[in-house]
Amino acid sequence: MNVRQFLSKYCWYYLLVGALMVGSSLGFSHAITAAAQQELLKSQVTIVLDPGHGGEDGGAISCTGVAESQINLEISLRIHDLLHLLGYNTTMIRDTDTSVYTQGDTISQRKVSDLKERVRRIQETKDAMLVSIHQNQFSDSQYNGAQVFYAGETSSKSLAQAMQTALVEKLNPGSRRQCKKAEGIYLMQHIDCPGILIECGFLSNPEEEVKLRSERYQKMLSCVISATLAQFLQQNSLI
Ligand SMILES: [Zn+2]
Repeated sequence: MNVRQFLSKYCWYYLLVGALMVGSSLGFSHAITAAAQQELLKSQVTIVLDPGHGGEDGGAISCTGVAESQINLEISLRIHDLLHLLGYNTTMIRDTDTSVYTQGDTISQRKVSDLKERVRRIQETKDAMLVSIHQNQFSDSQYNGAQVFYAGETSSKSLAQAMQTALVEKLNPGSRRQCKKAEGIYLMQHIDCPGILIECGFLSNPEEEVKLRSERYQKMLSCVISATLAQFLQQNSLI
């Protein structure tokens, strides 16, 4: 399946919803039923997109020397654009290649400050839902596939299960990876809102690294992640 077929298969419904929302904002409200308008007005959740690392903290380095932070940012920007098109409230922890630390003389002090600042921004966002984007790495290059980790808040696990299922079905068929509770991940253990962290794939696996760097695969990832988030929010009456 090429990317155009993929996008048309999974995004047409959401693009239609987006077009209806644009129509509504332009005054064509007769095109939308009263019930649908009610749903739109109930929109509350702000999806906080967190491209992991940034600036002097590149995160994992791929087998061809590309920093994880760049790939995280590219995928997050694509998710942001899609969700914005669909009418969701979204905000980004960073939208350029930068860290968000506020203090620190050494790199490790600045890394701690960066994580605390991310937590602060998430915690101060009303009705937040965190989606943190990362890339994995392991000493053995055979491992591949996306994996989703969830925060302690109760609905985080069901969102992670839905996301893991969608990523396996659409992008990693045959993968037996399952979502896991985020243990030992500072950001995920210090937020009160629903939150997931998506490791999109392994930068240490040569074939997967090529895909993760490609525009085509980044679009597919963004589409699956955005559509799954939209579906989850609708099914759980969070919009
Ligand atoms: Zn990372």
